[in-house]
Amino acid sequence: MGKISINIATGSIQKEEMIVGIDLGTTNSLVAIIHPDTKKPTVLKEYDGHALVPSIIYFDKSNHAVIGDEAKKKLKEEPQHTIFSVKRLMGKSYQDIKDYTGFYTYNVIDDNSDSLVKVQVGEKFYSPIELSSYILNELKKRAEHILKTPVTKAVITVPAYFNDAQRQATRDAGKLAGLDVLRVVNEPTAASLAYGMGLDKNETKTIAVYDLGGGTFDMSILRINGGIFEVLSTNGDTNLGGDDFDRAIVNFWIQQNNLSKEQIEKDKKQYQAFRLLSEKAKVHLSNNKEFTGEIGQQQFKLTKNEFEKLIQPLMQQTMNCCQNALQDASLTKEDIDEVIMVGGSTRVPIVKETVSKFFGKTVHDSLNPDEVVALGAAIQADILAGNNNELLLLDITPLSLGIETMGGLMDMLIPRNSKIPSKASRQYTTQKDGQSGIRIAVYQGERDLVKDNRKLAEFNLTGIPGMPAGLPKIEVSFLVNADGILLVTAKELRSGLEQSIEVKPQYGLTDEEVEKMLLDSVTNAKEDIATRALVEAKTEAAQMIDVTQKFLEKNKTVLTQEEIDNTKMAIQQLEKEMTEGNKDQIHTAIEHLNEISKPYAERVMDEAIGSALKGKSI
Ligand code: AMP
Repeated sequence: MGKISINIATGSIQKEEMIVGIDLGTTNSLVAIIHPDTKKPTVLKEYDGHALVPSIIYFDKSNHAVIGDEAKKKLKEEPQHTIFSVKRLMGKSYQDIKDYTGFYTYNVIDDNSDSLVKVQVGEKFYSPIELSSYILNELKKRAEHILKTPVTKAVITVPAYFNDAQRQATRDAGKLAGLDVLRVVNEPTAASLAYGMGLDKNETKTIAVYDLGGGTFDMSILRINGGIFEVLSTNGDTNLGGDDFDRAIVNFWIQQNNLSKEQIEKDKKQYQAFRLLSEKAKVHLSNNKEFTGEIGQQQFKLTKNEFEKLIQPLMQQTMNCCQNALQDASLTKEDIDEVIMVGGSTRVPIVKETVSKFFGKTVHDSLNPDEVVALGAAIQADILAGNNNELLLLDITPLSLGIETMGGLMDMLIPRNSKIPSKASRQYTTQKDGQSGIRIAVYQGERDLVKDNRKLAEFNLTGIPGMPAGLPKIEVSFLVNADGILLVTAKELRSGLEQSIEVKPQYGLTDEEVEKMLLDSVTNAKEDIATRALVEAKTEAAQMIDVTQKFLEKNKTVLTQEEIDNTKMAIQQLEKEMTEGNKDQIHTAIEHLNEISKPYAERVMDEAIGSALKGKSI
């Protein structure tokens, strides 16, 4: 039996469960829905008009979590019990963030550099997934309170640059919060939806989305064609945002007043006071020419001009990302039809001006830059609810995906910049007779040797029925789903044996690492080709030796001693060349072994066929 609820936000009768759109931000989070009456995306607001929930968690003395504005108030007083910017920690290891720990006023644990980070508050340890789940749970509760109906289904947005681990972490956080996460959507895709782009099926447009939030910068180039969204390229920096503007101001004040940076950073309370005042100054300067504030007895000043100079290098960094994104999409500035501004930091006038100047266009900034992503998430939720099934979203993979084959070579199944959802499969076989298992190691990266790429996962397909080498047909399939999460399946086609895993890597890659991996693949291309050729030659040689030795063993009674001796010598020669490592000489030795074994191999085959036919009448 279902209950009828009256939606107090909209005043209408709520018949079906709503799927909400959630922008889980670094600084603030919010929820939006499609208004059942107006059919317009609407941000859920408290009775006082409040929509943003600061993404901050405060743990009180009894370890009870308080989320949002109440928690924000504790930033200054109890910095070690107040967790902010947790999104920066999602899917990361200590190794990934160790250069930024000065930024956190709470305790980020350095235990094992390769495992996911934990945050310590008092006696307790929390994973970023748990911490994010507290925020999501708070959003869920607020939405339920406003809508007067249970909320269990959601679309959550993530920066376009989020890798597998980070997307999975976001999904897990949703699950922990009691939400069925129907889709993880890229923030720039949501933003373009919010501006109504792509809703007209005849429209073809190339869009640049400039998203400068509190902690992350995302640059995306999208193309909309016939109602289909396609991300042509993404670029950005998960460690660049309004927080960095604040830090630049703090450093400026420290320098200007001859204060000790070390001492201030050590005193968590004082550092927090500086952080909060610097943010206040920044926001003030979006509409004013000068700012004055105090910490204790001391006065701190900043002019708009000074501020603009301070953030100039950071602005330049974002413009470089724009340039790179264009290049990756093989486009020039002139190809961009629309520029969309997203994120609270795009309220800074100089940010808008710089971006507008770069693209030579007026930028779209009519929607509230804090709400635009959540509004788009609500539209996506509506599409998933089946209310708008003419739209389809396509994204791309940032790095190539493949598996390790003989000799440590990377066999690429899904190339970088492939549209997702995407599927690819390829057949492999065994190297040895009776081999019952095969190891599938999954890698991400652009280099030819897997050791230069990043390992995502590994599993064994075991229980393959005994068959001669080369006979089993093992099909490895990669499926990158619409969330950008990879599912790897290995199936032995003759026996139907199958195994699969969802790839949840141990920890994420930083943007710098992604960039470095791409750069390395270009600078090392020549070397890679040579190494690959050598590895292939060695693999071929090893297989040839294996087959020949087996043949000798099986047929020694029908071979002459000379044939056996010559073959053994040729094998020795080939083995020597394999250790020397010259690919051309390996090939010559393979050919030599081939020449020697070919005549008797043919003879033995003929005899075998002859004896098989003996006594049979035609
Ligand atoms: P977001 O992550 O999109 O919520 O963006 C939050 C960031 O925007 C924070 O760094 C805020 O300090 C910054 N921000 C919000 N309002 C303003 C404003 N009026 N002027 C400058 N920065 C702002």
